[in-house]
Amino acid sequence: MKECVCLNCSTPFKTKPSKVGKFCSRRCAGIYQLNDGVCTGETVDGQGYVQVYQPDHHESASSGLVYKHRLVAEKKIGRPLKPGEVVHHKNSKRQDNRARNIEVLDGHSKHATLHASLRRQEAALGE
Ligand SMILES: [Zn+2]
Ligand SMILES: [Zn+2]
Repeated sequence: MKECVCLNCSTPFKTKPSKVGKFCSRRCAGIYQLNDGVCTGETVDGQGYVQVYQPDHHESASSGLVYKHRLVAEKKIGRPLKPGEVVHHKNSKRQDNRARNIEVLDGHSKHATLHASLRRQEAALGE
């Protein structure tokens, strides 16, 4: 196998020697093109959440990726998130990681309650 580094997210990955090996995933190739060939250091997971390659972060996965909304939340509250804390996207758009769209909730049950009431509001509006 050939060792490569993704042009978009800088994640090291392995590929067949016959392959060019520019991107770790088709998704990264897409993001790179969308940004006019600029490395954004970001990738999007299967659920639509943006992840950033930051292997030194306390919440990074074995792949070195960390959820961007959690990084933004930590910046916003000025301290690292605790394991039980959940980060919510106020406008429900998982890729909108602007600080004002980010809210920290302590615990999954609060988060679930919030989503349930959001769904009721939407139903009341007839959507
Ligand atoms: Zn990548
Ligand atoms: Zn949420």
